[in-house]
Amino acid sequence: MKILVINSGSSSIKYQLFDMVHHTVLTSGIAEKIGEDEGLLTHEIYQSNEHTVKSVKTCTITNHRVGLIRIVDLLLDQADGVIRDILEISAVGHRVVHGGETLHSPTVIDEKVISAIKDNIPLAPLHNPSNLTGIEVAKSIFPHALQVAVFDTAFHQTIPIKAFLYAIPFDMYEKGRIRKYGFHGTSHAYVAERAAEYMGRPKGGLNLITIHLGNGASMAAVKNGECIDTTMGFTPLAGLVMGTRCGDVDPALPFFLAENFGMSLQEINTLLNKESGLKGLCGTNDMREVITKYHQGDSRAKIALDVYSYRIKKYIGAYFAILGSLDCLVFTAGIGENSAYIRNLCCSGLGQLGIEIDSERNSKAGKGVREISSLSSIATILVIPTNEEFKIAEETKKIIELRRQKK
Ligand code: AMP
Repeated sequence: MKILVINSGSSSIKYQLFDMVHHTVLTSGIAEKIGEDEGLLTHEIYQSNEHTVKSVKTCTITNHRVGLIRIVDLLLDQADGVIRDILEISAVGHRVVHGGETLHSPTVIDEKVISAIKDNIPLAPLHNPSNLTGIEVAKSIFPHALQVAVFDTAFHQTIPIKAFLYAIPFDMYEKGRIRKYGFHGTSHAYVAERAAEYMGRPKGGLNLITIHLGNGASMAAVKNGECIDTTMGFTPLAGLVMGTRCGDVDPALPFFLAENFGMSLQEINTLLNKESGLKGLCGTNDMREVITKYHQGDSRAKIALDVYSYRIKKYIGAYFAILGSLDCLVFTAGIGENSAYIRNLCCSGLGQLGIEIDSERNSKAGKGVREISSLSSIATILVIPTNEEFKIAEETKKIIELRRQKK
C-alpha cells in the first residue's frame, strides 16, 4: 500500500511517498518557488539502510498543478522512479492546518469536508487556502486515490472548555468561534503514541507532557491519551518563546504599541510574529547560533536562553498541576531532539516534581527514541524524533483499512 503525503503551502508542495506495508519512506521532496520565474525541485530517494540519493533542479513551476505533475514525473521516472504506474498510489494524505471545531479527526475528503475547510479559512487565512489548492490539484491528478485530510488542530479538540475558553464575552466564542485551538497536533499525537509504545503501556493509562521545540514551539498536557491543554491558542502566536514569535505577552501590548509607537496593525502583526522570539531578543532565530553566541560571552544570547527555558519550565509546572501526576516528559523537533543543553536548562531544578535528567544519557547523541532520565527520576524523560508525515500516512492507512472492513 503506497500513500503519498502532501503539505501544500502558498508557494510550495512538500511530499513524501510511503510504503505502508513495510512502513518505509520511498521518496520525499519539495517543489518550491511556485509561481516565480524559476522554481526549485528537490527530490530525495531513500535506498537501503537510510542511504538517500538527492537531486535538485530548477524549472518553471507556474502553479500547484504543474508542481504536482513534476513531482509525479519524478515518481514515475524510468531510471530512478519508485512507482511504475500512478495507480499504485492508493491514497493521498493531506496536512490541513485548521479543522476548527467540526473537523476533529482524520477524514476522507468529500465536498462537505472541502466546504468545512473553506469555512475555517478566516481562522487560518495563510494556510487553509493553500491546503485546499493542494487537495483540488491532487484530486484531479489522482482521481482513483482516496484523499484524506489530517488536521493540525485535531489532537487538541479534547481540551475541555475551561481550558480552551478565553474570558471575553461569550458571544465571541459562540458567534466568532474565538477560543484556543492549538497547533502541531499531529506531532504531539505522534510522539505521545511512540512514548506509550516505549513505556510498554496503553496510551489511555499514561499522563504525558509533550514538548515540541522547533522553529515554532508548543507543549501539550496529555491525560490518559487525550490532550487536556496546549500552549498555542487561537493562533500559533501564543505560548512558548519561538524562533521569531513572541509567545505569551500581555494582550494589551498591541494597543500600547499602536498608541505610543504609532504602529499599524500590520506592523504589530509582523513585529510579534516575525521579529520577536529568539530573534527579537538576541538577533537570530537559529538556536544553534544562539547557543554559540552564548558560549562566546554574548549577554543577549544568555538572556534569550533564560527567557526561552524559563517559559518552558513554567509550563511544565503548570501542566504537572493539571495532570496531577506525570509518567513521561517528551522532547521533540529540531531543538528538542538535538539540544542536550536546552533540555537540561528546561528540566533543571525539577527534582521535587520527580523530573530528573541524567546528564550522561542526555548528552549522548543518537537516533530513534532515547531515554534521558536518571534512575531516580519518577517521570521517564524521552527524546522522540517527530514524524508528522508518517503520522498522516498512518492515519490515512487506518481509514483505508476501516473502509475495507466495512465493505
Ligand atoms: P525545526 O523547526 O523542527 O526544523 O527546528 C529548527 C530549530 O532546531 C532551529 O532553531 C535550529 O537551530 C534547531 N536545531 C537543530 N539542530 C540543533 C542542535 N544540534 N542544537 C540546537 N538547536 C538545533
